[in-house]
Amino acid sequence: MFSNRTVIEQLSEGFFEFFQDGSFKKMDPSRLDNAAEDPSLGKYSSALGIDPLLIQMNGKIVVVDPGLGWGLDSRSSYKDTSSVVTNLDIFEIAPEDVDFVILTHLHYDHIAGCTYVNDQFETTATFPNATYLFHKDEWDYALTQLNNRQPQRGAAYNLDEFFKLVAEKRVDIFDADTYSVLPGITAIKTGGHTPGHTIVKIQQKEIVSYFMGDLIPTEHHLNHYAMKLIDSDSVQAKKAKKSILNKASDEKATIFFYHSLFHKSGVIAQDKMKKFILLERKNR
Ligand SMILES: [Zn+2]
Repeated sequence: MFSNRTVIEQLSEGFFEFFQDGSFKKMDPSRLDNAAEDPSLGKYSSALGIDPLLIQMNGKIVVVDPGLGWGLDSRSSYKDTSSVVTNLDIFEIAPEDVDFVILTHLHYDHIAGCTYVNDQFETTATFPNATYLFHKDEWDYALTQLNNRQPQRGAAYNLDEFFKLVAEKRVDIFDADTYSVLPGITAIKTGGHTPGHTIVKIQQKEIVSYFMGDLIPTEHHLNHYAMKLIDSDSVQAKKAKKSILNKASDEKATIFFYHSLFHKSGVIAQDKMKKFILLERKNR
C-alpha cells in the first residue's frame, strides 16, 4: 500500500440488468454490443454499471457507495465475479484497511455492499474498521419508505441488513449541508434524487473531482434534466445538477458516474451551445 499517494479509482462490479420489479442480475457485457436489437433491454429492464469509488488520500482509505456486494456472502454462488472486495485487492487494500464508507443515499443498489452474510448466517460489516457516513435527511426519509415496496428498478430502500451497522454504532449520521469527512474530502447535500442525497467532492490542491451518486447517474444524464421517474424531487434535482455542473466545469473537475456503461468518468466542460460534455481524464 502506498500511503502517501493519492488514488481515485472506480471499483467496477460489472454490468447488471435491472428489472421493473426491482430485481437485478449480472449481465453478459457482450449483450451491450447489440443493445439496440435486444428486445427486452430497455423495455422490461435496463442495463446499468455499478461503480463504487476508492479514494486513497493522506494515508486514509475511503470507499463511496460500495455497490451490490455481489458475491460477498459466504454461500454466494457468484464467487468468481468482481466485487468491491476483489477490486480493492487489486490495489493491495484489505477490507480492514478502509477507514470511511460514504453513502450518497441509502437505496439498495448503493448500500448492499456495506454488509455480507458470513458462514454462520450472520450479517457482518464488510469493512469492519470503517465508519459509515450518510446524511440525516436520508436516514429520516428512508425510515418513512420501508413499507413502500413499490417496484422501482433496484432503487427501493431495503435496510434489513444495514440496521445491523446502525445497531453496532458503526455509522456517523451528519446533519450539515457540507460535511468535511477528511481534509480534501467533502460530502455535499444536493437532495433531488432522494431528500438526503449527497455527492462527494475530492480536492487535492487545484485538482478537483466529484462523485455524482444518483444525482447524475450516467453520462447520458448530463444534459437530461427530466428524471421524474427516478427523482423524489425533480425540481430540486435539476437545480442542484445545474449548479454543481456549472461549478465543476469552472473547476475543470473530473466527474465519476456510478451507473455508466461506457463513459464512467471524464473532465467536465461546456461546448459552444453551453451543453455539458466530457473530455478525456489527464491527471492520473
Ligand atoms: Zn438511487
